[in-house]
This record gives sequence, C-alpha cells and structure tokens, in this order.
Amino acid sequence: MMVSTSPTGAKFEYAPAPESRAIVDIKPSYGLFVNGEFVDGHGHSFKTISPSTEEVLAEVAEADEADVDLAVKAARRAHSRVWGRIPGKERAKYLFRIARIIQERGRELAVLESIDNGKPIKETRDVDVPIAAAHFFYYAGWADKLEYSGHGTQSLGVAGQVIPWNFPLLMLSWKIAPALACGNTVVLKPAETTPLTALLFAEICQQADLPPGVVNIITGAGDTGRALVSHPDVDKVAFTGSTEVGRAIAKSVAGSDKRVTLELGGKAANIVFDDAPLDQAVEGIVNGIFFNQGHVCCAGSRLLVQESVGDEVLARLKRRMATLRLGDPLDKNTDVGAINSAEQLAKIRELSEIGEQEGAERWSAPCELPDHGFWFAPTIFTGVTQAHRIAREEIFGPVLSVLTFRTPAEAIEKANNTPYGLSAGVWTDKGSRILKVANALRAGVVWANTFNKFDPTSPFGGYKESGYGREGGRHGLEGYLKGQSLK
Ligand code: NDP
Repeated sequence: MMVSTSPTGAKFEYAPAPESRAIVDIKPSYGLFVNGEFVDGHGHSFKTISPSTEEVLAEVAEADEADVDLAVKAARRAHSRVWGRIPGKERAKYLFRIARIIQERGRELAVLESIDNGKPIKETRDVDVPIAAAHFFYYAGWADKLEYSGHGTQSLGVAGQVIPWNFPLLMLSWKIAPALACGNTVVLKPAETTPLTALLFAEICQQADLPPGVVNIITGAGDTGRALVSHPDVDKVAFTGSTEVGRAIAKSVAGSDKRVTLELGGKAANIVFDDAPLDQAVEGIVNGIFFNQGHVCCAGSRLLVQESVGDEVLARLKRRMATLRLGDPLDKNTDVGAINSAEQLAKIRELSEIGEQEGAERWSAPCELPDHGFWFAPTIFTGVTQAHRIAREEIFGPVLSVLTFRTPAEAIEKANNTPYGLSAGVWTDKGSRILKVANALRAGVVWANTFNKFDPTSPFGGYKESGYGREGGRHGLEGYLKGQSLK
C-alpha cells in the first residue's frame, strides 16, 4: 500500500496497481545477435539484475574482440551486398514494419524495460516505447527522400553504436533508426546493466524479416564498447554516455577517418522568473529532475529561481515532492522508481554527502524506501553556490540543486557557467523574455514553459562538454550520410 500526501496535506492511500509480468518471457540466458541469429559468444557471461529487487533476471553473453569482429564483418557484408544497395523505399518498408511491431509489442517492451532498468511503468509505457516507435516511423519517412535532406544520399557503411542504461530502448531507436534509413548497417552495444530490451529488439528484427547482418546486437561492458568503437572497419561511431568515456572515444578515433557523434552529460539550468505561472513551473521542475529518477542527460538539475519568488517556489515544490510515490516500478501509481545500479546509487550518495559537507542544506521528500533494491528519495539542496560540486557535476540522480538570481542577466550568466551545454528551461509569462533568454543560453535544447519534451522531428545534442553532432530531425541524418551539410 502506498501512502501519499495531497497538496492540501491530507493523507490518502492507493491500492497497489501492478502491471502483470506475465506478458514478458525472460530467458535464463542470452547469446549475441549476429548476422540475424542468436549465437554463443567466445567470452564470459554476466548477470543482469532487477534494480528494484536485486533478483537475477538472466545470464547474458559478454562479447570479446573476436565476437565484435564477427559482428562488424556481418554488418559489412550486409551493407555491401544488400542494405547499402537497395532503394530507400525498400528500406522504408522494413523501418515501418519495425515501428509497427514496437507498437504491437509495446506492453511487453514497457514491462521488460521497467524490470531491467527500474524505471516506472507509466514512463516506459507513455514515453520510452511510444517515442521509440515514433523514431522508426519518422526515419522510415526519410528513407526514400534523402535527396531532400541536404546531406547527400550516400551511406557511410558500418556504424558502431554504444548506448547507456538510462533510456535503453529509446537510445537504441535514436541510434538505429536514422542509421538504417540512410542505408548503413549497425553493430550496437547496450549498457551492461540494461541489455534485455535490445535483445528483444533483436527478435523484432527477426520478426520484421530484416536481412541478416543489418542490425547486430552485442552485449558486454566497457571492454566490448572499446573494442567496437576502435574496430578498424567501423566507419561511424555514435555514443551516448558519460563525458569521461566520450573523451576516451574521441581520443581513440582521432587520426582515423571514422565519423563520430557524441551525446554526453549535462547540468541544465531550469530558470524560473518571478512572472512565471508558479504551479506550472513547479510541475516542470519536478518533471525536469525527478522524471526517470534524474537519470537524464538533459535533466534540469540546477534550479535557478528569481529571489523574489524563491521562498514561495520552494514551499510549493516541497509540497509537491511530498506527493511523489516511490516504489515498485511495475505499479502504475509509481512516480519514482529504482536507481539503476548499486554503483550509481553510491555515486549519488557520495555527491549528496559532499553537498552537505560543502554547506548546502539538504531536504528529502518523506517516503519509505523499500528493503531490497537501490533507492534514493527525491532530494533538493538549497543554499547552493556555483562553486559547490553539486552545482557543477552531473549527479545523474533525483537530486536538485537550488540557486537564486535577481536579474535576467545574472540568470543567464549562472546558467551558462557550466562546462556542459545540453539543455535548459525558461519559465516566464513574457514571450519576449523567452526569446531573449533562450538566445543567450549556450544549450542545444531550450524548453520554454515546459521541460523534458522529446520528439523525433526535433534535433537534440550539445555544446562544449556535452558532445557534438545532433540526433533527431533532418539534422540527425547528417551523421549517417557522406554528403555536405546545408549551410
Ligand atoms: P558510461 O559512459 O561508462 O557508459 C555508457 C556506455 O558506454 C555503456 O554502454 C558502457 O558500457 C560503454 N562504455 C564504457 N566504457 C567504454 C569505453 N571505454 N569505450 C566504449 N564504450 C564504453 O556511463 P556509466 O554507465 O559508467 O555511468 C557513469 C556516469 O556517466 C553516470 O554516473 C552519469 O553521471 C553519466 N552518464 C551520463 C549519461 C548521459 O546520457 N549523459 C548516460 C549514462 C551515464 P557498460 O555500461 O557496459 O560499462
């Protein structure tokens, strides 16, 4: 039974509303998906666990260099014999088919993602899976119209793609859909802690009769990723993850003629002006940092609130946070699920302790944490200055640092005072202020009076240490085609 507090302070209870696991068939062990079939790897295997219960879900093959080589060879053959040759309208048919199967198997994918990742079912059901399908639909539409893209029509060849654990299926779709639409073949490595939806996607490729070798999924940890991105026959590297690993990848491909896109970390400012609709802004703050347990590269992890409304916003925010329901990811009432891994939990705890040691004031929403699994209560820090580590480093958890400002110029200066530049939010009643502030913010995406909205037609990517290249929209084709970009 979940107990919650209403905005008026009244407590009420929710009966559990768990989504059934029965729709998902998790196998005891998984091989690698190479050349259209599941094969045993040459290396060891590892376990993937449920972060909400710590239950072992499956044993998964760990691809070594020889496996990576086989996968890249399969992708190369598929590119030169089939995928790189067939007309765009034929490729489009497969992409449409994959998009429709993702929709048809949406519930299965959503349940599996929640079990393996720990995120709430209402997010996998309403965000991850529908947007993943939307990416395949969107790029299917481009496949036979590349001559209008402004980026040429010729594919690059084999793409080596490495994705993180925060949006496993969604990041897969961001990577695979544009690559395939442009005529490339792919070898994709999901994160070690969340391989299961990528492996289910491999089954979807079989179901869609995708020619063997067009999509290859190799599971493993950092060594597998390293072997993939440094493989000499990979033409394009696409990576989403930490800035540290992104830097290592940039170094490893420097001097080669591999094309690279890197989508890395962020420390976004969510700026609330005194004329903003405050209740709406509070919803946006909550969505900005507590959506997906804060495991979001573009999370609004720094709240910049105008001093004159600071106390009021904080009081409303705390009231709203007290209503967040933390617990079983498969319960349809759950707002905040489990932290993805013990390592990530340790990192969030460490940075939060540093926040306290450096003098910021910590407040966590009152909620009971389950006995098993990895959990962290939604937390805010007030009295944060720009020098604090919690204001500078990506915590990648449900932790918000609150700073104040007096003038728009101060807000802009503080917002841009970060090594990152992925996203930002602006809350104000004035359209002119939105435009002025958005123009001055050095961030790839600026949301106005909303936050964390994603759409396949819209380009996404960063400045500075948040990486380079864009995913999504027409811009997202550029990284997978040989042509020139539009000026
Ligand atoms: P990583 O950047 O290490 O992981 C991202 C992906 O890269 C995973 O598939 C990982 O494999 C793989 N990988 C790791 N090392 C290499 C390498 N040398 N070459 C190629 N691929 C590699 O992120 P972590 O999961 O370790 O998280 C660490 C921190 O990074 C988090 O605390 C968070 O702050 C940040 N992060 C940011 C993300 C973002 O989108 N901005 C996403 C994820 C994390 P494996 O998982 O198997 O190790």
